[in-house]
Amino acid sequence: QRVDNPYLNAKGYVNPEWKAKAESVAGGNRVSNNPTAVWIDRIAAINGTPDSSSNGAMGVRDHLNKALEQGANYIQFVIYNLPGRDCAALASNGELQAHELPRYKAEYIDPIAAIQGDPKYASLRIVNIIEIDSLPNLVTNTSGNPGGTAMCDTVKANGAYVNGVGYALSKLGAIGNVYNYIDAAHHGWIGWDSNFSPTAQILKDAAVASGSNVNNVHGFIVNTANYSALREPYVKITDNVNGTSVRQSKWIDWNFYVDELSFAQAFRNELVAKGFDSKIGMLIDTSRNGWGGTARPTGPGATTNVDTYVNGGRVDRRIHAGNWCNQAGAGLGERPKAAPEPGIDAYVWVKPPGESDGSSKEIPNNEGKGFDRMCDPTYTGNARNGNSMSGALPDAPISGAWFPAQFTQLMQNAYPAL
Ligand code: BGC
Repeated sequence: QRVDNPYLNAKGYVNPEWKAKAESVAGGNRVSNNPTAVWIDRIAAINGTPDSSSNGAMGVRDHLNKALEQGANYIQFVIYNLPGRDCAALASNGELQAHELPRYKAEYIDPIAAIQGDPKYASLRIVNIIEIDSLPNLVTNTSGNPGGTAMCDTVKANGAYVNGVGYALSKLGAIGNVYNYIDAAHHGWIGWDSNFSPTAQILKDAAVASGSNVNNVHGFIVNTANYSALREPYVKITDNVNGTSVRQSKWIDWNFYVDELSFAQAFRNELVAKGFDSKIGMLIDTSRNGWGGTARPTGPGATTNVDTYVNGGRVDRRIHAGNWCNQAGAGLGERPKAAPEPGIDAYVWVKPPGESDGSSKEIPNNEGKGFDRMCDPTYTGNARNGNSMSGALPDAPISGAWFPAQFTQLMQNAYPAL
């Protein structure tokens, strides 16, 4: 009974809680009717968390009821509460300890599955985005890698991520109108051959863990909560300058991809080669990868050398492609859109624009949110971002909390422009 592309010819659910936040900022009503995902970022969020900084009083059932009321065809949830969450960073560590897989299953996934499986909601296409920034960490951020962490080692060794994702897929995938898309990082993370195929393999391992099978996976999402450009119109990976490949530039640093569209299409093929269904579709999160505004290049860079060429022509204006927190200069990207390119089910806004990636300073809170210096504009970096400045906006609140200054900038630098 599942359709091939749940986004096609379908009306998306507009989260009234995000819409109200967007409309609290001048000009926000220009974009506030776009569908964004609802993040179930802790157990309490299942029933609604009026006291959290990220979500509001509406729980999963409230959102589903509202979606019916709106006459929406699809609604997007983010399943985001793995044990030892966000193992390579601190900004979005969650409530469950690394050993709490049993609680993840019984207190988090089971109740969500019970609600989503209510026949009352059978007419909705329920899209679940499964565990952002989790499985790829097991490839790139364990010991032996630059910047590997003890927490990533722990959740790799105890199977919390692989078995947690497998459990979520099998429970939610058993519901006929549910569409599961697993997080698959972004090109600036796994676009090197050392990470590309191993990440596809670990995604496959998770898809068949805990009694799941690949048919519980409808597709994958890239660039969630990230800033990598959809397309680099003036830099192609095959370009060279005076005989030197652009892959040797400091920015590209031997990566095989320069943008998300080319990466998503190639990674899709790799996933199919690993055993996923040949009909899987990719989603690209375009909520904050527009890179418009006055700093956007209008043509290729100078051909003095590969660095002048790449740095002058790239639309992604970040200091380093490993920077991920509240990036200065970013803009809203493509508006949500179904079937935009071959292999791509949709451009989506899964990270709700204007919600912070993490606080610029330590802010005490009881929501499990730590302080990651990648969100501090004065930080000079670590091995995971080539020891570069963080590029983060100042004065940000904790992850998930509303950050009006960021939202204003995202609108200013939107591409396509508003
Ligand atoms: C936060 C979540 C939040 C989500 C969406 C994550 O970084 O940890 O609490 O719901 O972003 O803004």
